[in-house]
Amino acid sequence: MKIAFVASEAIPYAKTGGLADVVGALPISLRQLGLNVTVFLPRYKGIKGTLCDRISIEMGEKYDIKVYKDDDFYFIDYPNFFNRDGLYGTEKGDFSDNCERFTLFSKVVSQLILKASYDIVHCHDWQTGLIPLYLKLGKSSARSIFTIHNLGYQGRFPAQKFPILGLDNGYFTPESIEYYGDINFLKAGILYSDVVTTVSQNYAQEIQTPEMGFGLDGVLRTRQASLIGIVNGIDYGRWNPETDDLIYNKYADFRGKQKNRQRLMDECGLKGTRPLIGMVSRIAGQKGFDILVKAFDSIIDMGFNVIILGSGDESFQKKLTTFSTVHPQRVSVNIKFDNKLAHRIYAGSDFFLMPSRYEPCGLGQLISLRYGTIPIVRHTGGLADTITDYDPVSAKGNGFIFTEYSSKHLITALSRSMMAYNCRDAFEKLSEKCMTINFSWGESAKKYVQLYKNTRLSGTEE
Ligand code: ADP
Repeated sequence: MKIAFVASEAIPYAKTGGLADVVGALPISLRQLGLNVTVFLPRYKGIKGTLCDRISIEMGEKYDIKVYKDDDFYFIDYPNFFNRDGLYGTEKGDFSDNCERFTLFSKVVSQLILKASYDIVHCHDWQTGLIPLYLKLGKSSARSIFTIHNLGYQGRFPAQKFPILGLDNGYFTPESIEYYGDINFLKAGILYSDVVTTVSQNYAQEIQTPEMGFGLDGVLRTRQASLIGIVNGIDYGRWNPETDDLIYNKYADFRGKQKNRQRLMDECGLKGTRPLIGMVSRIAGQKGFDILVKAFDSIIDMGFNVIILGSGDESFQKKLTTFSTVHPQRVSVNIKFDNKLAHRIYAGSDFFLMPSRYEPCGLGQLISLRYGTIPIVRHTGGLADTITDYDPVSAKGNGFIFTEYSSKHLITALSRSMMAYNCRDAFEKLSEKCMTINFSWGESAKKYVQLYKNTRLSGTEE
């Protein structure tokens, strides 16, 4: 079976979040199951590859595009759009030409797919939302899967940009890709793909409710019969404390982990023997920073040290940085994207905090488990599917959970974590148990294979 993956990021080439982990790792597992998978990405700044094709696209004017290749990856090259710092924008906001950039990307990939013979085109997130429609219009026999990694990002653009898409005006209606007077790329992906998936079973249910549907719950309910959740895995080739070259000390047990803890504290200027909470996250409202900021003084009073790595929302960045200025030996805030430090935080922290308002799947909690770092999470989306609350009596569970989205409930979960931390033998056992829990891609990849086999072109009996 020949599969095309299409996305706006994938490790090792370009990453802002979990999407890149998934698009980098899932194809590897699918290949192990015998599928032939190629991945299409924009050719961002710094990506090399070998020139393998040229193509002209009509989008108001003629665009001459080059296609580069590196192993199983194809890169769509249009330097004016993609050879710049940042994938979607700068700290000042999104690029103003994202509509043009990802329409061009989608048109080029659609044309390449139309002249090849793919069985399945697996598109990811709003940046690729137009592709299922372009393929249908081009009478492609490839079946399309559209995966929503985060419903909060929809690719909404003003109506004036509609001509860029090159579609008939009949598509600018509420039944199609018009959305409250705007264009909505994610809506296009939901409506015109043969199957819609999302990245956990719980999130697949949540997004069909008005509370969690970001205004698209009604549209999603129309696709209910073709909407399924498949939980993400992680790539243990990349995230494994026994082989990880980026951490200070490779380890397979709790003792080995402790060496990383001390080195991480030294590197970040933290002092003392208090339990250490780590966070590696986009700094966005979604990730629970409002309740974290409100709870921060209590967290310090309770006796935790905190290390945060992330970037994003400027006002949260400022607030967090203030805490580190006030408590330089207890709070370390690192505003940047830094893969090496991320690995060191997963390895060196005692707890990993994800107080998310919503979380489609979440990879941080799965990575931290592998490093024996106990997740403290809110019960939402994929966090609810992967983390079970720790019971000190039975020793069942793999983390600490709170349900209501509030600082008060976050603090309660943290105080339970502190109690568990103070029972040293039990805490060591919990940490070592977490290291052995398996969230590899194997089972989820099998589910995708089954899905690819069962998917039919919509509207046909094939
Ligand atoms: P999301 O995709 O919503 O950002 P996930 O938990 O699914 O959240 O995945 C986030 C991924 O991005 C993880 O691999 C995490 O380690 C990584 N990450 C997030 N922020 C940073 C950062 N500032 N530096 C390095 N890695 C980061």
